[in-house]
Amino acid sequence: MLPALRTEVYEANLDLVRRGLVIYTFGNASGISRAEGLIVIKPSGVPYETMRPDDMVITDLQGWIVEGSLRPSSDLATHLALYRAFPSLGGVVHTHSRHATAWAQACREIPCFGTTQADYFCGAVPVTAELTPEEIESEYEANTGAAIVRLLEGRDPLGCPAALVAGHAPFCWGKTVTDAAHTAVIVEEVAAMAWQTLTINPAAAPLPAELRDKHYLRKNGPKAYYGQKA
Ligand SMILES: [Zn+2]
Repeated sequence: MLPALRTEVYEANLDLVRRGLVIYTFGNASGISRAEGLIVIKPSGVPYETMRPDDMVITDLQGWIVEGSLRPSSDLATHLALYRAFPSLGGVVHTHSRHATAWAQACREIPCFGTTQADYFCGAVPVTAELTPEEIESEYEANTGAAIVRLLEGRDPLGCPAALVAGHAPFCWGKTVTDAAHTAVIVEEVAAMAWQTLTINPAAAPLPAELRDKHYLRKNGPKAYYGQKA
């Protein structure tokens, strides 16, 4: 079932390791077939070295397993909350990459200090509110997703393709799981850059709106001209 998506999700999971974003079994990637209403996600706790495409677990949008003998990632409910809230998403990736996670643990958004970030984010990488004791106690993973959904209320999720979960780590998304894994690399890079920017100059200011919008829109706007024509 869904062999192409299964392979793409498997490769995206491995890419997180290759890019140095994931150690041990941290992190997870999933993709969705909107036509089938099915999600392909990494299994829980399987070492990347021995993981195979066939180990990926297929569930429906409520999290019921449709195919696969392994348990799905324990963060499945967070992925499901994002897919249900945002129909434009085709893939979701979660890592504990060091610099992005440091910002999440500091409960600070990553300000948009430069054009590297503005090429992907029309502004800061936002951070959620801290979860309440009740949200942690019951349905923790679903409530993590709900916190991200609340954070993005009124925004196009593809215009802000990642968020930091306070005290936890980044979640990233995109039109495909490959895009989401790419964004995870960018989020880690801009997190490191922003930290170093503030180390050099603690009074550094975010990019002026004109320059931020220029970079964001030349790559993502209706008249985008960055790169080659598709
Ligand atoms: Zn996590």
